[in-house]
Formats: sequence, C-alpha cells, structure tokens
Amino acid sequence: MSGQPCFIADVMLGTLAKWLRILGFDTLYFKNIDDSELIKIAKQEQRILLTRDTRLVKSKKVAEHILVKANDTPGQLKEVLKSLPLAPHGSSTCPLPLPFTRCAKCNGGLKFVDKASVSGDVPEHVFLNFDSFLRCKNCGKVYWEGSHRKLIDGQIRKVLGEIDTHWKISEND
Ligand SMILES: [Zn+2]
Repeated sequence: MSGQPCFIADVMLGTLAKWLRILGFDTLYFKNIDDSELIKIAKQEQRILLTRDTRLVKSKKVAEHILVKANDTPGQLKEVLKSLPLAPHGSSTCPLPLPFTRCAKCNGGLKFVDKASVSGDVPEHVFLNFDSFLRCKNCGKVYWEGSHRKLIDGQIRKVLGEIDTHWKISEND
C-alpha cells in the first residue's frame, strides 16, 4: 500500500464510513449498490473494500479488503485502523490523513471560507459565536469548531486512544 489508504464501504457500514471521513480518510459509501459494482469501483480506484460479508470476500474476486466483524461502530473503526500500517503525521510509510478535511456527509474536500460567506447557512448563535468555518467543496455543507467537537465525540476519541496512532485530536479540535 502506498500513500494514504482510501476505502469503499459496503451498504452495511454507513456509520463507519462517516467516522472514517471525519478522520480524513477518503471513503466512498453508497446506500444502494450491488456487489459487482462495489468490487468494480474498489478495483478501478484502488480502494480497500470494507465489508461485513464473508461470502462476498470468498466468492468474488475481491482485491484488497478488510472483513469487518464488530457490530458496533467503535469496534469496527478499531478493526479498520488496526489493520493499517498507520504512521504518525508527517511520516512517509502510511501517512495519517488530517481529521476534518472531508465532509462526513458526502466525502467531499473541505476548505476554509470567510465568515461572511456562511451567514444564512448556519444557525444565528453559531454565526455569532464562531469565527472559523469550513465548507464542503462538493455539497456545500458548512462545518465549524462546535460541529467538529460534536462529531469527534468521546467514542471516536476513545478508539484512537486505544490503538495508539499518535493521533492528536485535542479537546478543542
Ligand atoms: Zn459534502
């Protein structure tokens, strides 16, 4: 594996896909997709297939994949991260992505935008209390410090702490 790992998640792993995006991993997820299409995209785009389907992995020609066994999302996230040769930020082997660089909703890239440009797109109390805003280049969804803190909740933080990825996500991120 070279560069940052990217994923495609099967239909049963929607929440896991969202969490991976929050952490910055390029992760595709489609609510309705059949197995052959899933495998095709994985191969074409060299994505690691995340699946709970043992049969799928055995019966079809699946290249790189991670068979996810846990039923809960924190457990699933742990399984995925543990199977990657993750290295600290800045290292060349398998660099970690930067958290909060992707849209949790659609996987699009986020960019910093002027405060004035999000007026009307966020609740008034948010506009008054925050100065730093990110907007998804794809779907336009706006993120701010408070929304991030809510997304990276205690569960994700706990998983990251347990697997010792040198991942630094401060309480203020
Ligand atoms: Zn988006």
